[in-house]
Amino acid sequence: MSSTEQRVAIVTGAARGIGAATAVRLAAEGHAVAVLDLDEGACAQTVEEITAQGGKVLAVGCDVSDSAQVEAAVARVSTELGAPVVLVNNAGVLRDNLLFKMSDDDWDTVMNVHLRGAFLMSRACQKHMVDAGFGRIVNLSSSSALGNRGQVNYSAAKAGMQGFTKTLAKELGKFGITANAVAPGFIATDMTAATAERVGMGFDDFQAAAATQIPVQRVGEPADIANAVAFFADEKAGFVSGQVLYIAGGPLD
Ligand code: NAP
Repeated sequence: MSSTEQRVAIVTGAARGIGAATAVRLAAEGHAVAVLDLDEGACAQTVEEITAQGGKVLAVGCDVSDSAQVEAAVARVSTELGAPVVLVNNAGVLRDNLLFKMSDDDWDTVMNVHLRGAFLMSRACQKHMVDAGFGRIVNLSSSSALGNRGQVNYSAAKAGMQGFTKTLAKELGKFGITANAVAPGFIATDMTAATAERVGMGFDDFQAAAATQIPVQRVGEPADIANAVAFFADEKAGFVSGQVLYIAGGPLD
């Protein structure tokens, strides 16, 4: 790739929350960005923000846990925007419950979106990265990887994302591809708002209570995560690979 060519990035789950903030940030850093989400139409706001700042963007509807949809989505990005060389595996869902109440479907859905989704997307994109001799894969883990009550499915998936990341780093490094993970703590998004609702608290009270437990005394914003993803995605971060960065306003136990 010539230094004047615009790099193409794919961000999954980019209709809202951390994915949307990351897509906007990567566009601001000069990438052409494909925003993937279950519903193409739901990406309208992200598309609008990127377009308003003069960026190049393509919305694509895709369930990341579906192999055929992933192959079709990556092919479409490659044709309409260019070969993707940055991939942010961000799409995520919660199906929280205590172990004895957790259904097979709760378990499978979370594994499929996070782990199978990251696997399918990475496999589909790596050939473009290998061809380019350059690639950046950033995976969303979570502080829940360390264990969190009511989240056996999610914590297992997010711990799995860390092993997945380190293995990608080992396999793909020789092709100029790095793989890293960000592991957020509490970030104010629809996901944490849904958790507040599930436990019967208003979102403001829920955030205020969480902030008292965080050393910097505030909850995170999507931009806090987008910043770190932008660092890992940067060409200059080429010697940083296989790392997991916890972003939680302080150290975790
Ligand atoms: P969010 O606001 O719920 O956004 C997640 C996005 O992913 C939604 O737009 C959702 O679409 C999409 N999505 C879900 N399943 C999908 C699928 N199969 N294919 C494509 N897209 C799919 O969540 P967030 O808080 O921004 O979280 C983003 C990532 O960070 C997730 O991986 C999450 O686990 C991780 N994380 C979040 C926090 C936090 O505190 N918020 C902490 C640690 C880690 P729909 O709306 O249509 O379902």
